[in-house]
Amino acid sequence: MSRESVGIHLPESCSDLCRGASCECGHTKPGPLFSHVLIRILSAVLLLAFALYNDYTGGMSAVTAITAGLSLLLTGVPVIVEAITGLIQGKRNVCELAALALAGAVVIGEWVTAAEIALIMCIGEHTEEYMYSRAGRDLEGIITRHPRFCHLLRDTGTIEIPVDDLTAGDRLMIRPGDIVPVDCRIHEGRSGLDESCLTGESIPVFKGPGDTIWSGSTNLDGVLIVDTLRPVSESTYARIIELVSEAGERRPPSHPFIDRCARWYSPLMLLIAGLVLLGTGDAVRAITVLIVACPCALLLSTPSAVVAALGAAARRGILVKKGEFLEICRSITTIVFDKTGTLTSGVMKVIAIEPSGGTPEHEMLRIAGTAEISSSHPAGKAIVQACRDVGIELQIRGTACQYPGEGVEDRSDAGVTLVGSLSFLERKGVKIPLPESDVVSNPAVCTVFVSHNGQYSGCIRIADQVRSETQKVLADLVHLGLSRIIILTGDTHQAAISLARFYCLPENRVFSGLRPSEKEAYIAELQEAGEKVCFIGDGTNDGPALARAELGISIAGRHDTVALETAGVILMRDGLSLLADYICLGRRTSQIIIQNVILALALNLLLILAAAAGLLSPAAGAVGHQVATVLVLLNSLRLAGVRPRSGGHRLRETCGLPSHS
Ligand code: ADP
Ligand code: MG
Repeated sequence: MSRESVGIHLPESCSDLCRGASCECGHTKPGPLFSHVLIRILSAVLLLAFALYNDYTGGMSAVTAITAGLSLLLTGVPVIVEAITGLIQGKRNVCELAALALAGAVVIGEWVTAAEIALIMCIGEHTEEYMYSRAGRDLEGIITRHPRFCHLLRDTGTIEIPVDDLTAGDRLMIRPGDIVPVDCRIHEGRSGLDESCLTGESIPVFKGPGDTIWSGSTNLDGVLIVDTLRPVSESTYARIIELVSEAGERRPPSHPFIDRCARWYSPLMLLIAGLVLLGTGDAVRAITVLIVACPCALLLSTPSAVVAALGAAARRGILVKKGEFLEICRSITTIVFDKTGTLTSGVMKVIAIEPSGGTPEHEMLRIAGTAEISSSHPAGKAIVQACRDVGIELQIRGTACQYPGEGVEDRSDAGVTLVGSLSFLERKGVKIPLPESDVVSNPAVCTVFVSHNGQYSGCIRIADQVRSETQKVLADLVHLGLSRIIILTGDTHQAAISLARFYCLPENRVFSGLRPSEKEAYIAELQEAGEKVCFIGDGTNDGPALARAELGISIAGRHDTVALETAGVILMRDGLSLLADYICLGRRTSQIIIQNVILALALNLLLILAAAAGLLSPAAGAVGHQVATVLVLLNSLRLAGVRPRSGGHRLRETCGLPSHS
């Protein structure tokens, strides 16, 4: 779909969200590698090449020194400035060793070597920067989908205003092809909406007057006149954008090993260089030790891998809020799923109304619908829709109170209505004469109980859908050795057990009738028993458990802000499909980090020994040191290269998973 067809309006100047080499604002912005940095590096290369040629052909040594010095000016000054700033600010930076080495080379008149070191350092540093901007661009892909202008309706027609100026209650026109800028309620018009970027569901949802449409979804066919529900900053998609930006800004955590390194590494290397100087009296050799000792490769081992993996995840539609959520995948021992909306799709429809005690069916549905009118729970929405389908008019009232994971309680002049789970009504003192044998055999049917003024009125059967991908995801998890799979649900025991049977999961790992705090308490119990838990949930009632688990994963489908905020990882599309791929990516990231650390340490050690033994010239030392850095970066780039294209087969292969069919 072209940018115009989805109605993104280009701002006068590009927002500060667009930082990379190219952005999706319809323009190209020169990135670091294609602008002054590239020119600087190219000029330095040419000057250095001339210096080397002049030296080789026996030209005047002053010419060699001047051209090498100019090259050094272009690439070395920033390094020295950075080192001095670090010293002034009291920030211990192991790379200061390199600045010392550079100064040493100049002092002994090794202009060409100094220029070489500076040039290679400059290239190494910008390779790292490029990796950061590369991952950043992947995140921007999600960010720049958001429109920046919209059409405000006035008596005289429409005017275009920035979406940031919208307030709740504004009336807008949304044309076919436009992206919905803020959460709105339809006043007039009907249209299909593509909510795939929020829900992963590619089938359009048809909506009409009274329906809520979510920011970030695309209006497909009809013109809609809508009233905004909230400003852009509080809308669904804006929340996702905020999370994306936060994740993008956060530098990956540095490995504790590296932190410890910084404290002892520099003094130790200075000591070794000092000993070499004292032992051999050869200043050049000591300076070479300093050059090769700079542990840039070691320092980049973790961040480069994590940044590359964050980018790879973002490209697949997985939002990872912190690098540590990748590294934790290696230690996960138990997978805990929420049921409704996670193992099932959470798109519900009333299939049977079973009144009790003589309450008319129509009346029971009306009572339940009135209580659920403002409910965001899929079961509540299904009941409201069932009322609309049979022509029951519901009045919007502000008397209902939601109990996450349990139900609603509506207290009005007409009395007290409870709609919710069996345990919820029982807790509220309602006696439910339901025989135990009333087993729901369909794994995706949820039974909701209704009472009015303390009297049980009956139950409503609501069909959910088993997610088509769940079976495959469970098989993948077992393949990854994660066979300890547990289901926690607020739903009834029967519903939970029949779902477990459907997926051939052991029944003793299913826990039902749980309130949010009980879900969390169960996770805590597992952790006390030494398990490292990954919890996957979708709703407000999953918030505490998502926050408690070592790894909390949410699905972006239900627009549940609590779940999206507390989860460390959000699967932005395709429901659960990418769960195993994500764990695979996390494990692969840890592997690459370990490889990087071993590679960097081994090469550094080798180079230090060679330099101390006088086997390396300063220039060769500089090259060797930067080779180690580049090798680490290239090794990390293997993660960024684990492309989602063709179903991400390569990534799955690395974890021994079967390819996506
Ligand atoms: P899960 O824990 O499996 O995700 P939920 O927490 O979403 O399930 O819901 C648990 C149970 O609570 C549902 O099966 C339903 O019986 C009840 N429930 C929660 N909210 C509502 C509501 N608004 N209306 C009716 N029932 C509800
Ligand atoms: Mg749920």
